[in-house]
Formats: sequence, C-alpha cells, structure tokens
Amino acid sequence: PFVITGACILEKAADCVDVCPVDCIVEGGDQYFINPDICIDCGACEAACPVGAVYYEEDLPEQQIKYMDKALEFFKTQ
Ligand code: SF4
Repeated sequence: PFVITGACILEKAADCVDVCPVDCIVEGGDQYFINPDICIDCGACEAACPVGAVYYEEDLPEQQIKYMDKALEFFKTQ
C-alpha cells in the first residue's frame, strides 16, 4: 500500500481523498491515513498530493517509515 507521511501534518490538503477509487483515505487527527488493507496501489493519491506526502511503502525515505506504523496503529483503533 501507499503511505501518507509527515508533510501531511499541518497541510491536510485532502486532495487524495477525492481521487482514491476505493475510498480508503480517512482523516485522523493531525493527518490523513491510508487504510493499508483496502489500498489497491493505484498511485492516484501520490500524484494528487500537493506536498508530496504520499509514498509507496517500499519507496519510503528512512525517516518517514514511522508513518507506516502510525497508520497501522490508527486503523487498529477504528
Ligand atoms: Fe487510494 Fe490508490 Fe492511494 Fe491506495 S494508492 S490510497 S487505492 S488512491
């Protein structure tokens, strides 16, 4: 799945929410999160994000890997 990283915090532009074909991006406090169980890896959100916050999980920069865990934690409590 794709992962929304730190650039979303403070920004929360939400352009990704409108383009996701499976509606798996949800607002969650200080940022938006992609539900990794539903994401179909289409990449539309990555292209739509105005601040480049979205990465394919395997392309995550080292310091952004923690956002994958943050999303997992978030959906665990949903
Ligand atoms: Fe939605 Fe596609 Fe982004 Fe996955 S990659 S969150 S399916 S827009």
